[in-house]
Amino acid sequence: MLIRRLCTPSKALRQVWHCQQVAVKCPSLFRAERFAIHPGPGRTATATMSASTIQKDKPSKMQAKFCKQCGGTITFSIPEGDQEWRHVCTSCGFIDYYNPKMVVGCIVEHKGKLMLCKRAIDPCKGKWTLPAGFMELNESSMAGARRETAEEANANVEVVAPYAHLDIPTIAQTYIIFRARLAEPYTYSAGTESLAVQFFEPHEIPFDQLAFSSVAITLEHYLQDCKQGTFHIHHGVIDKRPASSPNDPTTFTLRDHVAIPTQMPAKL
Ligand SMILES: [Zn+2]
Repeated sequence: MLIRRLCTPSKALRQVWHCQQVAVKCPSLFRAERFAIHPGPGRTATATMSASTIQKDKPSKMQAKFCKQCGGTITFSIPEGDQEWRHVCTSCGFIDYYNPKMVVGCIVEHKGKLMLCKRAIDPCKGKWTLPAGFMELNESSMAGARRETAEEANANVEVVAPYAHLDIPTIAQTYIIFRARLAEPYTYSAGTESLAVQFFEPHEIPFDQLAFSSVAITLEHYLQDCKQGTFHIHHGVIDKRPASSPNDPTTFTLRDHVAIPTQMPAKL
């Protein structure tokens, strides 16, 4: 199994789901905590939670300091019935949930070559990557992958199949990469986030100039599939060393790799 080591950039997480009306006092991590609750339907006015049930360390880095609802001060607390530290408003009780980001993109095939984009922006400006980016609200992963390819490479593509699903827990990101073919009008050029767009023969892929661990792993498995003659659908977890450089090939490993063979012959 080929494994290359790069890493992927971290960005602030701003996924907001919903709020519960819970205001929390947190006198000590090591004592029982008393939760003062603004009662909602079916809720009690107060509840207690033993610190002994807390399994995870309190996060050191806050994603937000102020409440999106009222502007009050945010603090870390574990709400009643939860197992995770949350960003909770000390004024109105709003719970601001932060969850992993989804990154979607394409391996674009055309005439036996693969598309790469040279990044025009940091992180990893000047490095090569697959066209990919953060999935937007109200779109599917496949639509997001096509949109990102259109934005970064001004290219229209036809998605062929899902190819890789890679989790990167260290930076709270999940990648879904699709195989795709360049489609009519078969044109491409650098989008605003790209310095250049280029199709590479498999042996030309600049592995020492790739931007992210997810891209390196995806491409290595893709080439391996081509060598074996069968495409697989790949899943795995990238363990990335915290605070490491986004393009340092020595700072990550792939684990729990699952490769499910498909009926699709792999050939570029
Ligand atoms: Zn608030």
